[in-house]
Amino acid sequence: MHYRRLGRSGLKVSEISLGAWITFGNQVDEQLADQLIHAAYEQGINHFDNADVYANGQAEIIMGKAIRGLPREALVISSKVFWPTVPGPNGRGLSRKHIFEALHASLRRMGLEYLDLYYCHRYDPDTPIEEVVRSMDDLIRQGKILYWGTSEWEAAQIAQAYGVARQYNMQPPTMEQPEYNLFRRQRVENELAPLCKDFGLGLITWSPLAGGILSGKYNEGIVEGSRAALADMGWMRDQITPARIAMTRQVTALAQEIGVTTAQLAIAWLLRRKEVSSVITGASKPEQLDENLGALDVVDRLDDDLLEEIEKICDFASESG
Ligand code: NDP
Repeated sequence: MHYRRLGRSGLKVSEISLGAWITFGNQVDEQLADQLIHAAYEQGINHFDNADVYANGQAEIIMGKAIRGLPREALVISSKVFWPTVPGPNGRGLSRKHIFEALHASLRRMGLEYLDLYYCHRYDPDTPIEEVVRSMDDLIRQGKILYWGTSEWEAAQIAQAYGVARQYNMQPPTMEQPEYNLFRRQRVENELAPLCKDFGLGLITWSPLAGGILSGKYNEGIVEGSRAALADMGWMRDQITPARIAMTRQVTALAQEIGVTTAQLAIAWLLRRKEVSSVITGASKPEQLDENLGALDVVDRLDDDLLEEIEKICDFASESG
C-alpha cells in the first residue's frame, strides 16, 4: 500500500480506502463488516469512510464495532453531516446547532472520542458560510475532529470557505469528497484541480466504479445479488444506460489486453492524478476488496499509450450518459 498526503496537510491516507454507503447495515452485517475491515486493514488500508445518514446510523454503529480491536492511531475515520437525521427543521443542514449535535451523535454511534475527518456532506444555502466554518473550526479546537472538509461543493463555494477562514484566522477545509470515475471526470479535472494547486486542497473521491458498473458486471445485464438488483435501487438501474455499457465494454476489452480486470483499470486510472489523495471503494464481498486492491499494481502500468486509449474511450460517452 502507498500512502498519500491529504492535500497540503501532514496526514497520510492509503491510496485506496473503504466506505460504508449502501453496504454496511444493508448488504453487509456486523460479521461481514468485521471481516471486510480487518482484511482491508491487514492490506494497508488506513482510511474508512462513513456518514451519519448511511443506513440511518447503523453503518456507523457497525463500523464502530468492527474497528474497536484496531489501534486508533493507525486509523483515519471520517463521517459527514448535512442530510436529515432527526425530525424537525434543525435535524438537518449545516447550522451550528445541527453540526454540533450530529457530530456528537456520530461519535456516540462509533464509540470514538474524535473523528479524523469530518465533512459537510453538501452545501447548505440556508446557513451563512461564516457559521459553517466557525462551527468546524470550533470542533477542531475542541479536539473533536482533526480536519474538516466538503463533499460535492462547487469550487466557488469552497473558495468562499477559504476566504472566510483566512479572514477570521480559522481552519479552512482540508479536503473535498467528489464523485470521480470514468463517467464523471470534468468536475475533478476542470473545477477542483485548480483549487488543489492554489489552496492545497486534498481530494478523497467516491464511487470509483459508479456503483459497480465500471467493474463490467452489468455488461450483459443486471446481475442477481448486485447493487442494481436491490429493490430500492431503481435510480441506479436508470444509470446503467446503453452509452455507459458501451463504454464499459471498451474498458473491459482494454483491461483484458493488459491482463487486469475492468475494476482494477478503472480504479488505477483515478490514481494517476496527484490531486487524488485516496479513492474510496465500496465492497459487498471480501473478493471485491481483494480485486480492487489489485489496482495498486496497475497504476505504474498506465503509460502514455494506455492513457491515450482510455482518453478515446472517455470521449465516447458524455458526462450525462
Ligand atoms: P463503487 O463505485 O466502488 O461501488 C461499490 C459497489 O460496486 C460494491 O458495493 C459492489 O456492489 C460493487 N463492486 C465493488 N467492487 C467490485 C468488483 N471488483 N467486482 C464487481 N462488483 C464490485 O463505490 P460506492 O458507490 O460504494 O462508493 C464508495 C464510497 O464512497 C461509499 O461507501 C461512501 O463511503 C463514499 N460515497 C460518498 C458519497 C458522498 O456524497 N460524499 C456518495 C457516495 C459514496 P454489489 O456487490 O452490491 O454489486
